Amino acid sequence: MSSSAARRIGIFGGTFDPVHNGHLRTALEVAELLALDELRLVPASVPPHRGAPLATAMERLRMLELAADANPGFVVDDRELVRGGASYTIDTLRSLRAELGAAARLCLIVGLDAFAAIDTWKEWRALAEHAHLVVVQRPGAALALGEEAGRWAAARFAGDPAAALAGAAQGAILRLELTQLAISATHIRALLAEGRSPRYLLPDAVLDYIRENRIYTRAAAHTGDTD
Ligand code: ATP
Repeated sequence: MSSSAARRIGIFGGTFDPVHNGHLRTALEVAELLALDELRLVPASVPPHRGAPLATAMERLRMLELAADANPGFVVDDRELVRGGASYTIDTLRSLRAELGAAARLCLIVGLDAFAAIDTWKEWRALAEHAHLVVVQRPGAALALGEEAGRWAAARFAGDPAAALAGAAQGAILRLELTQLAISATHIRALLAEGRSPRYLLPDAVLDYIRENRIYTRAAAHTGDTD
């Protein structure tokens, strides 16, 4: 396979508690701009940097499946749920690289808020050895990296995302300017808890599922982290 024909795979990880249109619009625009063959939505089992999700893992997976059904390029990848334990992105990238081969263009999508804390991720310097990082703006977030992470990122920023992607299977940091949607899962959970409607912030099918199962309005069904 020539390098220009190498498959382009987007990887979008998160808690997705619940998935919303900010995630989905970001995924769609990145897929279009980078001509991705496939966009994998990867729910975290236990996110290392935050408290436990309110929805169960199976509910978060089901909500992602309902959201992904509407777009043939979106695939839900449950490897972090199957692996269990804390979900580290580096482990996920290694497993995807082993599965998809050395030529595949792996594009890890990270919101600017998450990227700003990249130096707290497990083996963060190794992330670019397995994937390109696609950093997308998020309303209200500014890029303020620590000194070492700043140097690391500066050495990898690609002025021309298309050329970077055509030229290598991993290693570049691509910044994309996308439509800004100030939607967060936190806000959606708060609306539901207050008895207000989050309609139009997330797909109707996901909202119907949330309501049927009273996901964010029932009493806490399980104990989680309290941080
Ligand atoms: P919460 O409010 O519960 O923290 P969230 O809405 O930030 O959730 P996550 O599942 O934590 O959603 O986010 C997964 C990824 O999606 C992160 O990289 C995050 O930066 C990105 N992201 C979330 N919401 C948006 C948005 N509205 N626009 C762009 N990127 C987003």
